[in-house]
Amino acid sequence: MDHRNSTGNYSISNIEIEINLKRTLTILGAGESGIGAALLGKAKGYDVFVSDYGSISNENKSQLNEASIEFEERKHSILRILKSDLIIKSPGIPESAELIKKLRSNGNLIISEIEFAGKYTSAKLVGITGTNGKTTTTLLTYHILKEAGFNVGVAGNIGKSFARQVLEEDYDWYVLELSSFQLDDTYELKLEIAVLLNITPDHLDRYDNDYQKYIASKMRIFHLVHLGRHAVYWQDDTQCGDDIARATRGLNVRPFSLGGDAAEITHIQNDRLFYVPFSIEVSAPRADISIKGLHNMLNAMAAGNAALLAGVDGKSLLRGLKTFKNAEHRLESVRHLEEVEYINDSKATNLDSVKYALDAFDTPIVWIAGGVDKGNDYSLVEALVQDKVKALICLGKDNSKLITSFENIVPMVKTTDDLIKAVRWAKELAEPGDTVLLSPACASFDLFDNYEDRGDKFRKAVLAL
Ligand code: ADP
Repeated sequence: MDHRNSTGNYSISNIEIEINLKRTLTILGAGESGIGAALLGKAKGYDVFVSDYGSISNENKSQLNEASIEFEERKHSILRILKSDLIIKSPGIPESAELIKKLRSNGNLIISEIEFAGKYTSAKLVGITGTNGKTTTTLLTYHILKEAGFNVGVAGNIGKSFARQVLEEDYDWYVLELSSFQLDDTYELKLEIAVLLNITPDHLDRYDNDYQKYIASKMRIFHLVHLGRHAVYWQDDTQCGDDIARATRGLNVRPFSLGGDAAEITHIQNDRLFYVPFSIEVSAPRADISIKGLHNMLNAMAAGNAALLAGVDGKSLLRGLKTFKNAEHRLESVRHLEEVEYINDSKATNLDSVKYALDAFDTPIVWIAGGVDKGNDYSLVEALVQDKVKALICLGKDNSKLITSFENIVPMVKTTDDLIKAVRWAKELAEPGDTVLLSPACASFDLFDNYEDRGDKFRKAVLAL
């Protein structure tokens, strides 16, 4: 039967059929990445539905309304979602969520917002992952490329979502921060350059407490690289050496190392950083690199290698390393007061990052730590703490583990759940030449909304001294 009316157009019933034939896209989670994906999906002709089990911010709701995108909050309409052709899942939703288990057993296709956005851009992509240092290295790589005149965007967990930028901008390059959760639902993204910074145990609750599964998730980044293109990784991370060797087969590998005798690869020797095989040499740390600490030298090697592989010249690299300003809450210098420097490292939510933070200072340290313990083995930093920390102020609801771990190691241990009090004590305990370091080794949710909230309140308290 022909549904065309007298003017030759299809009748309403036929249009309905056509609408029903549109591919349906459900987006789970209405944060920045979800909203970006929804807007891009709508622009690409999908029938888009957004579902969030929590509440959606007013600003995000009005963006969805403006684009005539249907949404629901504080619930999931499971039957409707199960019928979707494509699902984009926020990286925050764990595999153990009932809805995800149902979708998996139903065979629904679930991808990340990064995977989805990648389908609609031909820009060249640099992907950066690792347990620690992702944001710093992503921002640094972006900064170097931008300073060198590249038409480049930055996305991932930073600022505007990748999907929104693919829709609204026209960049030739993107630098993407990729968490393991994002990598888990990413299959065909094509990277020009992949960077793996390090792997230490973290987020194991999301990987069945199986470290090998977490490692496998990180290795996915190399499977996303075009054959023959570039893989940058930390050579000294020996625990994963075999996995890395397997995952990078067929790629152009560019490892970096702290080892001074590594003539073939990028390395540090006598406080100088050698980008091999680019014949570029940089004085490390301070003089040529704005960020400090051994961990940041590793980040500078990784970012520098990525930038050089992208085509940046040595002069621009130097300029980028010199003028970079890191994001807040990462060894952020808040203030010098009475010859004491106050450092906000609130983002240090695991022990490995604290190790590097303690290592970054040559002065005696008044260390503020604590919060929600994620299974820390404090013996890993015992020697460093003994060497550098003159006082420990435990800041958390339950400080017992910190206290028992350090009461026989640090001359002075105090305990509180009040940040203002902690900062005042720190001022009393610190002498000229000392450093007061907030580097918690723990998550923040016992006393704060998140690590940003903790860092902001610390900064405010320090500035009020
Ligand atoms: P991520 O985005 O992976 O969480 P950030 O750059 O935000 O990484 O840094 C998080 C914490 O880890 C900060 O405390 C920072 O000082 C520390 N850190 C940064 N780079 C490294 C590294 N390469 N190795 C270990 N710790 C690091």
